Amino acid sequence: MQSFMPRIEIALSKIQDNTRMLSELYGQKGISLMGVTKAVLGEPSVAEAMIQGGVKFIADSRIENIQKMKNAGISTQFVLLRTPLSQAESIVENVDISLNTEIETLKKLSHYAKAHNKIHQVIIMVELGDLREGILLCDLSQFIRQTRSLPHIKIIGIGCNLACYGGIKPDDKNMQELSELVNLLEKEFQIELKIISGGNSANYEWYKSSQDVGRINNLRLGESILLGCETVSRKAIPGLHTRAFQLIAEVIESKEKPSLPSGEIGQDAFGNTPDFQDRGIHQRVIIALGRQDIQASSLKLRNKLEILGSSSDHIILDSRNQNLQVGDEVKFDLDYAGLLAAMTSPFIRKEFTNSMVTQ
Ligand SMILES: *Cc1c(COP(=O)(O)O)cnc(C)c1O
Repeated sequence: MQSFMPRIEIALSKIQDNTRMLSELYGQKGISLMGVTKAVLGEPSVAEAMIQGGVKFIADSRIENIQKMKNAGISTQFVLLRTPLSQAESIVENVDISLNTEIETLKKLSHYAKAHNKIHQVIIMVELGDLREGILLCDLSQFIRQTRSLPHIKIIGIGCNLACYGGIKPDDKNMQELSELVNLLEKEFQIELKIISGGNSANYEWYKSSQDVGRINNLRLGESILLGCETVSRKAIPGLHTRAFQLIAEVIESKEKPSLPSGEIGQDAFGNTPDFQDRGIHQRVIIALGRQDIQASSLKLRNKLEILGSSSDHIILDSRNQNLQVGDEVKFDLDYAGLLAAMTSPFIRKEFTNSMVTQ
């Protein structure tokens, strides 16, 4: 029987292995992990693999993904990485901890926490240079004071996020800054900050090279767990699986054709004026996958195949004399953006290739 195409094959045991190895590695210096599931849209079996691998929390940026995992019976501490104001009630109902930077949002969360007779726990995010979410250091004391006046909100930690927007690397300097901040805040407010969440998959090189991780005791990891790499230079982390996800699509045309289009050149389907390199007559292959599923630049080819271009529903390859026939399967590795896109495409079937070993 032929398998469905296109499909993404997800090796849960590899995700579990990666999580276990990372938990052990970071655990050596007292750092706990949150497993980040946003790239797999909160796929419950992936969350379960992460939990089996040793993460203490599951974190996602979308409340809908967290609801999906809870409905599937996943039981852990759930963390929301982004806090939409309009979803405050649902956040209080579904999430144990959320990351916050706006007092308006915290007021709303407190309001609904009161209505539901709950205390909502928060991690306050600080800005350390990357310029995505975070409170400026000069505003932090005031912000903590205001937050502490909200009766149904409990500050359980602080955190920062680097290498996401500005590409700023986590290093001893900014990590020490975070540690010092923790000491100052604990003194000023006589509070204990339990979770000091120093970053994401970009923190690997810092961790490996640092003699002293200071007060940092948590990281939020998505890409390292799922794709086995760090994210400052996208190097594979030794010992981790880098092929837990494989995208497989079928060849729907394979023909020898000229490499240069004939006729007058205008715009292509996406408004670009294309430019072509003459490589003579060559074997061209069309794959049933397109921009509606994934950007061709997110696909990494294993063999000598080369991507020539793509439209909404077709990706065109130079087969480089490999004998690809109609109906053949072509396998791709994915980058993080590609994983996100493939998991989001309703046209790509999600298949789990090997189930987890539960202990
Ligand atoms: C997505 C996200 C992460 C995880 O990032 P990775 O690079 O996949 O490890 C961590 N923290 C926040 C706030 C995020 O939005």
